[in-house]
Amino acid sequence: MSTPPGEAAATALGLPSATSTSDLPGEAPASVLSGEAPASDLPGEAPALDLPSAAPAPDLPSAVPTPDLSGEAAATGWGLPFGRPGRFWRGNLHTHSNLSDGALSPADTAQVYRNAGYDFLAITDHFRPEHDYPVTDTRDLRSDTFTTLIGAELHAPATEAGQQWHIIAAGLPLDFAPPTEGETGPELARRARAAGAFIGMAHPSASLLTAVDATSLDAAHAVEVYNALADRENRGDSWHLTDVLLNRGHRPTTYAADDAHLQPQDPPPCQAWVHVRAESLDPTDLLSALKAGHYYSSTGPELYDVRVEDELVVVRCSPATKILLSGGHPGAEVLEGIGLTEGALPLALFRGTHCRITVQDATGGRAWTNPIHR
Ligand SMILES: [Zn+2]
Ligand SMILES: [Zn+2]
Repeated sequence: MSTPPGEAAATALGLPSATSTSDLPGEAPASVLSGEAPASDLPGEAPALDLPSAAPAPDLPSAVPTPDLSGEAAATGWGLPFGRPGRFWRGNLHTHSNLSDGALSPADTAQVYRNAGYDFLAITDHFRPEHDYPVTDTRDLRSDTFTTLIGAELHAPATEAGQQWHIIAAGLPLDFAPPTEGETGPELARRARAAGAFIGMAHPSASLLTAVDATSLDAAHAVEVYNALADRENRGDSWHLTDVLLNRGHRPTTYAADDAHLQPQDPPPCQAWVHVRAESLDPTDLLSALKAGHYYSSTGPELYDVRVEDELVVVRCSPATKILLSGGHPGAEVLEGIGLTEGALPLALFRGTHCRITVQDATGGRAWTNPIHR
């Protein structure tokens, strides 16, 4: 264990100081849910990511050329959302209804989330021929206090594992055309992004995506770093591949989602979500904020403020047992205790690379910022 470099500065702020764990590889995996039934949409396909403005990966053979799709993200930057105008709106970006392999109608699915206090939902049915390529129309489920994003989970050949891609597209037009003959996953994702959608690389771990796969999905705004359904097979967490991509110069943001199907064998819904910072609940505002990275993800804790002050990351959160700073360098800065609601962690370990805050509560729930780039 190395000496905590930020201790003096943190003490000066009157905040608990962090303990460096530079000899540890990272945090423990998320909890494993029991159950043997196959995950409805997990095995058998891998999603693609979109990596806007990624630098060429020098050792990736045959990577698809990267179109310049990064303008909107680059223009808005990747700053933390906490001081931005508006408020946080809670939503799930990955959900299935009975228009594909979910159990409930779109209306009943939305009711589950509305009853749980969510502000918005993207129903993302499988965009496959056996379901007649649904882009589920949820406009009539919107109200003054709840809204929807029109979306789908897109599929096309083929990942390195020989499977179909799984690509989340939220903000699709209702008339988005089915894949054309020979259209690949990365091509399909580019077409969805060009049509206005926020693109997510779904469950990379469960799909066994490789760095070559992920790099080819150059239209992705974000990586689905936590998928509650995939957690059942202990492949819910996709931070490793994400850190590899970030260290290669890609700039995806990161979201957590349920991938809810509401089938009897599935985990319960409302396990993983995003808090999107926007001035209104208008779908256009939510989409703009998602594309700009103005959001954070959670399976439980709330983040009230995360900001960089000089050489510290200062955090305020709901009661936690751990506040963790990790990122593009092995090791981490860790604060541990009971009922932690604030802390300051030194940035020194992550000089020259990205980092993020993870907050964990007493029940094992976690919240993650998007990657922070210095
Ligand atoms: Zn999927
Ligand atoms: Zn899915």
